[in-house]
Amino acid sequence: MHYTGTVIRPPSEADSIILQVTTGCSHNKCSFCGAYKDQTFAIKDPAIVAEDFEFARTYCKRQKRLFLADGDVLILSQARLLGFFKEIKEKLPWVNKVSLYGSAKAIRNKTIEELQVLKSLGLDRVYMGLESGCDEVLQHVKKDSTALQMIEAGQAVKKAGLFLSVTVLLGLGGKELTQAHALETAATLNRMQPNQIAVLTLMILENTPLARKVQEGSFQLLSPMETLKELYSIISNLSGLRCQFHANHASTYLPLSGRLPKDQQLFLTEISKVVSGNLSTVPEHRRAL
Ligand code: SF4
Repeated sequence: MHYTGTVIRPPSEADSIILQVTTGCSHNKCSFCGAYKDQTFAIKDPAIVAEDFEFARTYCKRQKRLFLADGDVLILSQARLLGFFKEIKEKLPWVNKVSLYGSAKAIRNKTIEELQVLKSLGLDRVYMGLESGCDEVLQHVKKDSTALQMIEAGQAVKKAGLFLSVTVLLGLGGKELTQAHALETAATLNRMQPNQIAVLTLMILENTPLARKVQEGSFQLLSPMETLKELYSIISNLSGLRCQFHANHASTYLPLSGRLPKDQQLFLTEISKVVSGNLSTVPEHRRAL
């Protein structure tokens, strides 16, 4: 396979064929994200993609899932996406589920009918970066959508019959906005009704605008305990959700994984144990992105 630059995939796609059809991210402005800072968004050379299809046809026959990389593949035109999906059906007929990243903007650019057509061709799951449901936080970090636009995008994915996975980023409001970040993120998730919530914890990357703000002192990072209190606040304000909930990313201070509503109380109890000193957090040197 030919991979250009940093290729990022969700943890749940660890066993999937990773087929890179674009490079970078079409937005590439989020102040906390260093993933594609050295790249401009581009569609990969069709000749290279054709070679990768050939590689997958020969060597990836046991992998039934395929992840179309990089960031925000859904931003491509419907015609181009149809081309990729038809090629997957034709050349890799054993693949039965295809997933990709889709920003709220990319989702909003598609009609429900267009999403349904992609579903009929094998699209199974859309990973959307919510990060926060608080507009002030979203504006500060330069996400490309408001909370309401994120909700509408998430609801469109669900209406099309697709599995919606959303990420939330703990600590993104810093000390100043932690309460609003927690409460408004929970409210947004309640309205969006995702199938899966993946919670990550902010880690500052050197090549990002947010790192400069931390150095200048205009953004104050949460301590591990403040981060867990924020997580407690989000979880305790979630209601009416039936979904997978994972806060076990490598960046976490406390790995939690289960289902809502079944495990909601268990999660809160585990966090309380840490806050009261009866359970320890993951040490800083073992955290990673
Ligand atoms: S967080 Fe997502 S949308 Fe924002 S710059 Fe990074 S890859 Fe792009």
